[in-house]
Amino acid sequence: MRNIEELYQDKKFCVKCGTRLEIKKDRENKVRAICPNCGYIIYLNPIPAAACLIINNKNEVLIIKRKFEPKPGEWALPSGYIEIDQTPEEAAVAEMKEETGLDGKVEQFLDYYTGYSPIYERVISFGFLMKIVGGRLQAGDDAEDAKFVSFDELPDLAFDSHKHYIKLYQNRR
Ligand SMILES: [Zn+2]
Repeated sequence: MRNIEELYQDKKFCVKCGTRLEIKKDRENKVRAICPNCGYIIYLNPIPAAACLIINNKNEVLIIKRKFEPKPGEWALPSGYIEIDQTPEEAAVAEMKEETGLDGKVEQFLDYYTGYSPIYERVISFGFLMKIVGGRLQAGDDAEDAKFVSFDELPDLAFDSHKHYIKLYQNRR
């Protein structure tokens, strides 16, 4: 991981008053980007994401081919960043619908995983085992393809977090 000062380097101006920000330690002795004019502080935090492990009755796993950054063209579990108005569970249900056309509900929380992101440096992913409750399998707008494959045929996935959830699931059985 890059050092903290480096991560704040692209935070140039205050989003509230436009003053040039200062990268310096706050009163907790932690480096932040701080506005010397209005006191606004930018905090960099890990970005939360949700991932869906979806297994059909033939014990196959649903994977999607990613269309957008990060890692376009690579296979992954249906997943996405959690929006400000979503719980992790709501994000999992929404991503499942958007990327695969299937209606789902959370069956079980699997685990969380702290991973590296080329864009945000650090992502905390929440993995859920999902149950299919309706819909029809169809790659959504942000996926090139969506299909069930056996665990033996599984291609290398784009994210370590997704590999972690699959391994966890397999080890439990
Ligand atoms: Zn300001």
